[in-house]
Amino acid sequence: MKLRPHHLLCVQKYTGSGYDDAFTAGMDALVRRLTACPDTAVTLVEGRDDLCAACPHMAGSRCDSEEKVNRLDRGVLEACSFSAGETRSWSTLARTAREQVLEKETFIKVCGCCEWFGLCRDTRKGWIYGKED
Ligand code: SF4
Ligand code: SF4
Repeated sequence: MKLRPHHLLCVQKYTGSGYDDAFTAGMDALVRRLTACPDTAVTLVEGRDDLCAACPHMAGSRCDSEEKVNRLDRGVLEACSFSAGETRSWSTLARTAREQVLEKETFIKVCGCCEWFGLCRDTRKGWIYGKED
């Protein structure tokens, strides 16, 4: 599976909201897959990933908010000491993203510019992969 680095955060904060029905259906399927198989190999990519595929914000092969999402991606790579192109299991990447971003002040530094930040900030602690721990 390919994921943009900041999607390591979005997947873990997902509670069913999204841009449209096609996007949330894609997100639901991806969350189900990762929940069922946390050992899934995930490659961190620059640009379009498996979530973007069903997103109404894809304009050709690029996101129409590319500048903003690149900034989010850089924030996650830096905070987690990950590199683009790196492949690890979903559970390893998700745990590091949780510990280095979501559970620290780093969360607001990385995600504060995102229109979904209020929703993600208020998501219950313990809500991971679409279910409570
Ligand atoms: S196309 Fe842009 S807005 Fe849509 S999922 Fe990808 S990065 Fe996010
Ligand atoms: S605030 Fe935005 S980038 Fe951050 S986890 Fe939520 S949806 Fe993803």
